[in-house]
Amino acid sequence: MAGQSVVSMVDFELVARDGNARAGILKTEHGEVETPLFMGVATKGAVKTMTPEDVKATGTSALISNAFHLYLRPGLELIKKHGGLHGFMDWDAVLFTDSGGFQVIRQGFFIKVTDEGMKYHAENGEVKVYTPEESARTQMVLGSDIAMVLDECPPHDASVKRVKRAVDRTIRWAKEFKEVHDRKEQGVFAIVQGTRFEGLREECASELVKMDFDGYGIGGLSIGEGRDEMLKAIERTAPLLPEERPRYFMGLGSPADLLDTIGMGIDVFDSALPTRNARHGTVLTMKGQYNIKRAEFRDDMRPLEEGCDCYACRNFTRAYIRHLFKEKEMLALRLLSIHNLRFNQRLMERAREAIIEGRFKEFRKETLGSMSGK
Ligand SMILES: [Zn+2]
Repeated sequence: MAGQSVVSMVDFELVARDGNARAGILKTEHGEVETPLFMGVATKGAVKTMTPEDVKATGTSALISNAFHLYLRPGLELIKKHGGLHGFMDWDAVLFTDSGGFQVIRQGFFIKVTDEGMKYHAENGEVKVYTPEESARTQMVLGSDIAMVLDECPPHDASVKRVKRAVDRTIRWAKEFKEVHDRKEQGVFAIVQGTRFEGLREECASELVKMDFDGYGIGGLSIGEGRDEMLKAIERTAPLLPEERPRYFMGLGSPADLLDTIGMGIDVFDSALPTRNARHGTVLTMKGQYNIKRAEFRDDMRPLEEGCDCYACRNFTRAYIRHLFKEKEMLALRLLSIHNLRFNQRLMERAREAIIEGRFKEFRKETLGSMSGK
């Protein structure tokens, strides 16, 4: 530790390395989780269509919620009455909160980013500014295990001048966040910005690392730039971050993206992709994906994926789940969400095992080959 003001209880232990891929254990107030870690997304306090018991049964041991959303609705007072966000959601395992920068832009509350913070429309129409300090206080009240600093995420095609301004703000806001944050039980992750500009990413990473955070997010990628550009940026950013801290790539969830970036040294992920796919009828399997609505599954007596140990696969046929989907029964969405989330967890479990056994490269190649039918 580099002598910063608050030393949090959060700790990260590297268990194994295989090339750049890492297996570790993230230790928090609400338990320890193994990395590579895939988190379920509970933006507004729930994983869509699933109960906390459903979520846990898929092997999901961590969720991420959006602090800014919850700050606006239902508001901190109500959540405080439940003893914090864990109590409100009845989630007793690991919980991350995102500061909200990215979500705000997509949800239409947002007006603009200023040097002070994010200007937004409150429910009563008033114009307010959400500052880094307010973001820190919000997340301390929510009591998540990991808080993310407020950052500015410019569009992927923004000019170098605009990205430079976002990087400067991200660094300054990280400092301001840290100054008011004093909840020892809660770890704080900073977020590296800089889009495609390598020099700016380097500058952002190096300034944030000097401040000694519990972990580092890589942000501002996977938002519309090409896949090659994204992978190149991750490959170059990961080595700038300290070996002994977890690295979190925000908003990435396809099997290929997960395996490729685990291979570059990323430890933590979150994405709504598996559950969003589920609601469209898309079933993820180790042999690639398919849509349950297709006519060929009408009489199919097999589970969604042979060999899968999830609740849906242990108890129901494709024919039944297709029938539910066709009849717009809500259970269809729930069962598919259970399967798809379990699929991502099985992928993480296998990746971790492969890293520990020193065969990650082969595992990645075989898995991606089998998924694309090769
Ligand atoms: Zn399954």
